[in-house]
Amino acid sequence: MSQRKPIVAGNWKMNGSVELVEEISSKVLSQIEEKASLIVFPPAMLLSSAIEKGFVTGTQTVSENNSGAFTGETSAELAKQLGAEFSLVGHSERRSLFGESNEVVAKKFSKAQENALTPILCVGETESQRESGETEQVVAEQIKAVIEHSGIASLSNSVIAYEPVWAIGTGKTASPEQAQAVHKFIRDMIAEYDGHIANELRILYGGSVNDSNSDLLFAQPDIDGGLIGGASLKADAFLSIYKSAL
Ligand code: PEP
Repeated sequence: MSQRKPIVAGNWKMNGSVELVEEISSKVLSQIEEKASLIVFPPAMLLSSAIEKGFVTGTQTVSENNSGAFTGETSAELAKQLGAEFSLVGHSERRSLFGESNEVVAKKFSKAQENALTPILCVGETESQRESGETEQVVAEQIKAVIEHSGIASLSNSVIAYEPVWAIGTGKTASPEQAQAVHKFIRDMIAEYDGHIANELRILYGGSVNDSNSDLLFAQPDIDGGLIGGASLKADAFLSIYKSAL
């Protein structure tokens, strides 16, 4: 683990309940140490409950618009007013199920920052893109869309999550070496713009992280913690993954 303060983030997707917020808060929050951050991304309906219980929270997405006739959307401004501090942008489920392009994701990234939410930009290749040797190109394009829209300095107040699509929710984790190689590629690519930003940037790994593989993944020099889906819904597993980052 590097000098960068690690983050363990739980993406609950459209899962959870008020009871689960209580259970996880009572088992996990007393164990949080200064050395690593824990963030939860509950469904928007549970954001207030999670904040009341003392979690550092974020939204799973934000609208690229300020306000208006956008039924069902999540407002960055209102999320901030509730007390959220982060937002995922460009999660692969948003890209594939809701058609979010790199350009739309770049606008969401900037809307989050405009409202003082720290964006966690999710990037990653599909299985067929990996098999055809396109991983680096795909990830670079996803990040460059943000740099072109908001400038390289915008990355200094953000986090990147590398989440190979083939590893999300499949039980197929990238090996520590596979993940480290892409994290290093991302850091080196950003260093071509700005070495300081690249060195400070937290890059999380996501994709079937569990309490048996988190130690080795988080021990890689360019992996600064994880974005955890399924295992973040189980208090014991989530806590044990958090402890891997200490
Ligand atoms: C995710 O949804 O971001 C994720 C990584 O899910 P899982 O850990 O379940 O693969």
